[in-house]
Order: sequence, then C-alpha cells, then structure tokens
Amino acid sequence: MKAQTGILTVVSGFSGSGKGTIMKRLLEKYPQNYALSISVTTRDPRPGEVDGREYFFITEKQFEEMTQKEELLEFAGYVGHHYGTPKAYVQEQLAKGRDVILEIEIQGALKIKEKYPDTVLMFVTPPSFAELEHRLVGRGTESPEVVRQRLCRAGEECNGIEAYDYLIINDELESCVEQVHSILQNEHTKIFRNEIFINEMKTELAEYAKGEQL
Ligand code: ADP
Ligand code: 5GP
Repeated sequence: MKAQTGILTVVSGFSGSGKGTIMKRLLEKYPQNYALSISVTTRDPRPGEVDGREYFFITEKQFEEMTQKEELLEFAGYVGHHYGTPKAYVQEQLAKGRDVILEIEIQGALKIKEKYPDTVLMFVTPPSFAELEHRLVGRGTESPEVVRQRLCRAGEECNGIEAYDYLIINDELESCVEQVHSILQNEHTKIFRNEIFINEMKTELAEYAKGEQL
C-alpha cells in the first residue's frame, strides 16, 4: 500500500506554558513517530541551548537572505527577534510519511494553516495565569523586562486561540504528553487522511465484483 504523507502539526502557546518541555518529552517517548522542525532565530542562545538542537542561531543578515531565497515556510517577529521555519526539512519529512511538528507562534501558525489547510493546530496553556508567570519567571532565562514583554504578548496571543483545533492544558506533564500523542494518533484515523488506502480498497472490491459477474 502506498503511504499517505505525514501530518503537519503546529504547537503554539504562551511563552513559559511548557511547549518546549512537552515536545522534548514527546520525542523522547515516541522518537519514531514524530519529526520536530528546528527553526532559525536571530535571538541569542539561552544557557544550555545548542546550535542545531533547539534552534539554528543566525544573524539578521542571514535571516534576510533566507527569506529572500524563499527558504522559509513561514516567519514572524516575536519580542524583538525573528523566527522562521526552514522549508526543506519539513517537506522532506512529510513526503517520507512522518508526522512533523512545528513549535511556532500564532502569526506563523495562521500562515501555515492558510498554506496547508489540513494542518492540526494545538494551543498549549498552563492551568492559570499565576502558573504561567511562575513558570516563566522560574525558568530564569529572561530578564524581568523581557518576562513582562512576553506576558503582554501572551495577552495578544490569547485573542487568537479560537483559530486552533485543540486546547492543551499543561498541568501534569506526563498526562499532557499522552494527550498530545493520542490526539495525533487519532488524527490518522480521519477519513480524509486515508484517501490512498480507501481508493485501493475500492479498486480491489470493484475488480472482485467484476470477476463475479463473469
Ligand atoms: P515554552 O517552551 O512554552 O516557553 P518551557 O518548556 O521552557 O516553555 O517551560 C517553561 C518552564 O516551565 C520550564 O522551567 C519548565 O521546566 C516548566 N514546566 C513545563 N511544563 C511544566 C509542568 N507540566 N509542570 C511544571 N512545570 C513545567
Ligand atoms: P523562544 O524565544 O521562547 O524560544 O520562542 C519565542 C516564540 O517564538 C515562541 O512562541 C515560539 O513558539 C516561537 N517560534 C519559534 N520558532 C518559530 C518559527 O520558526 N516561526 C514562528 N513563527 N515562531 C517561532
């Protein structure tokens, strides 16, 4: 049977909601199921971040070149920096039938949905605003000023939640990871995602029926 292409999923959420943590755990548990796209960004690496693992850290000039050469599937500005999704990796993995996850903010998510309407959109939030603030401050990677800017940006992002398909409340990490995994596995059972299988079945059944009439 010919394989369908993989499912493209976008995971967005407030800064500090735990998207990165959920994705890391999902890939640890199910490395064969998912390919996580690595974005380019013009922001500086946080302590512990490695070039080519969390992001490809590039200059504004390199970013501009990539956009001009149309090497990015989408890109957006976020609190003073640019972020973008390299096109080649996503297209390659989808063609191989692997599910690809983009962990990107809302402007990028909407652009992806417009280009690829079958994309699954998930929005991650902590159980409360207090917990969001606690996690963002507790992560200790941003200055108080940047934390304030990110919380203000969260207020804007909140107005776009209705465009998403699923709300993921990241309270207890392991159950949240399982929820994401089961949503994505269930997506595979949707009729429109199984056209190749269904058409092959239809053809074989039609051939059988033809033989019976003879
Ligand atoms: P994001 O990628 O959305 O900006 P992170 O994954 O960096 O968020 O998580 C922000 C902080 O919250 C980190 O310190 C992380 O360890 C913590 N965190 C993530 N998920 C949970 C959870 N379910 N319960 C408690 N803390 C969490
Ligand atoms: P952070 O600086 O916390 O790693 O990321 C800031 C925001 O940028 C997050 O909302 C993250 O999802 C988003 N982001 C990361 N990569 C991309 C990307 O390639 N495109 C877009 N549009 N947003 C991204």
